[in-house]
Amino acid sequence: MTRTTMEDMRSLKYLGYSVVFQEVPDEISLAINISGCPYRCEGCHSSYLWEYEGRYLKDDLEAIISKFNGITCVCFMGGDQNANELNAFIDYIHSQGLKVCLYTGRDSVPCDVKNLDYIKIGHYSKECGGLDSPTTNQKFYAIKDNKYIDQTFKFRKEIINAENYKEPMH
Ligand code: SF4
Repeated sequence: MTRTTMEDMRSLKYLGYSVVFQEVPDEISLAINISGCPYRCEGCHSSYLWEYEGRYLKDDLEAIISKFNGITCVCFMGGDQNANELNAFIDYIHSQGLKVCLYTGRDSVPCDVKNLDYIKIGHYSKECGGLDSPTTNQKFYAIKDNKYIDQTFKFRKEIINAENYKEPMH
């Protein structure tokens, strides 16, 4: 099996999808797990996404989205290793009246990915914890009019106050 590099421009592949409620606050999101993650975070809970495996998303994206009535957002769990293709997917999803979020393991906003509505940045660090941790290195932003609005506080457990809280995997 072949691993991707940071500049990998092969077509994006995916390994599963599901409707999620907490990865993007205030949205009902269809999360799509993109394989070939180049970031290799120590302590990653999703190392099955490191390999470049699965089906080509370009072949299935339209059909996947059409299965779900009532979603408000599509959340890519990875995918910025091919920004050109991801940008095309973002445009298509917007044309369907949905918002788009990207979870990336990059520590800064990827300037080559355009027109996102939300983004989570930051590698996973066991010491710092995920988005729900007060010491997290990760950030979650809503993006409006090219302004990045920090909404990381919405992931704190005491704010969510939900019995079944599950830490986002990326
Ligand atoms: S935590 Fe996410 S970004 Fe980091 S290696 Fe795992 S899948 Fe990739």
